[in-house]
Amino acid sequence: MSFFTVSEKPLLIAGPCSAESKEQVLATAAALQGLPVRLFRAGVWKPRSRPGHFEGLGTQALEWLAEMKSCYGLPFATEVAEPQHVAAALQHGADVLWLGARTTVNPFDVQRLADSLRGVSIPVMIKNPVSPDVELWLGAIERLEQAGITDIAAVHRGFTSYKSSSPFRNAPNWPVPIELRRRRPDLPIICDPSHIAGQRQGVASVAQKAMDMGFEGLMIETHPNPEAALSDAQQQLTPEALKALLAQLVIRHTETTGHSSELEHLRQIMDSLDAEIIDLIGRRMELSRAMGSVKKALGMTAYQPERWREIVETRSSHAAGKSLPAEFIMELFQKIHDESIRLQLHILDDAAQDEPSC
Ligand code: PEP
Ligand code: MN
Repeated sequence: MSFFTVSEKPLLIAGPCSAESKEQVLATAAALQGLPVRLFRAGVWKPRSRPGHFEGLGTQALEWLAEMKSCYGLPFATEVAEPQHVAAALQHGADVLWLGARTTVNPFDVQRLADSLRGVSIPVMIKNPVSPDVELWLGAIERLEQAGITDIAAVHRGFTSYKSSSPFRNAPNWPVPIELRRRRPDLPIICDPSHIAGQRQGVASVAQKAMDMGFEGLMIETHPNPEAALSDAQQQLTPEALKALLAQLVIRHTETTGHSSELEHLRQIMDSLDAEIIDLIGRRMELSRAMGSVKKALGMTAYQPERWREIVETRSSHAAGKSLPAEFIMELFQKIHDESIRLQLHILDDAAQDEPSC
């Protein structure tokens, strides 16, 4: 049975960004009593982007976490970035390990960590890489699996963007974890709204969005005195604020619950609309093929930049009239246009004419 399976969502992970002192670790755990916290988190080796900031207290801090565990019976997790971290964390009884965003991005580091975990049975959480690259995220998961780690959860903590005007510290970019879910429906996804929001007041709405997406868990940075925290002071919540967040959180079902004739009716309409969309796309592709033959006869290229510009303009303004976001419609038309060009290139290519086009 997976460590990450819980009967009631969310699987809650809480604790400070960094273990700063024995008092801070014990006070946080004491204040979390009574909340449904499944796992205590605290970083003891902190991957700081720039030098000169608090980088964690290593094995000394692991001793405080071990003491916290024996006082409160709360399992703990910490971030590991090097094989020596793995050895020290295991020696101090860590229950779960996690790979941070700056580690997942580097397959060499991930492989070294995976090798150091060979033969060890421990649940591991893998944060998304700093860049929105689902392949890197999956790659890290697979490297650990190939080393024999079977209990894995993915942690969505958002993605770096350059000088973005977004309200987030790390843009959530929800389609990325959704793509991970599509590719690996078996993996639990835990959202880390603290590192996505970057500020206290934004944490609750990101946590709610993660629940609306059907993710399994939340990892929320919690500190008894957040303003005085040695790392990520702006985004940590007091245990009281965490309690208030949980009280407001709406948990939704991922399966259809009960019978709703209204929902069934709407789904039937949607099924027939989807069938119409597919028929229309089929007709559009037939037209593309015919246009390919005309272009061939006229000695024209398959891709006509002027025509594509016209498609962009007319389709975006049509979409605007239907309150559809231009970005979404253009992405859709880009895909349709790519397929048209592929079909036409096949027609223009004499040698390919005898082969099937798909
Ligand atoms: C953290 O969890 O405190 C941390 C450093 O996270 P990330 O790897 O997501 O930046
Ligand atoms: Mn942090």
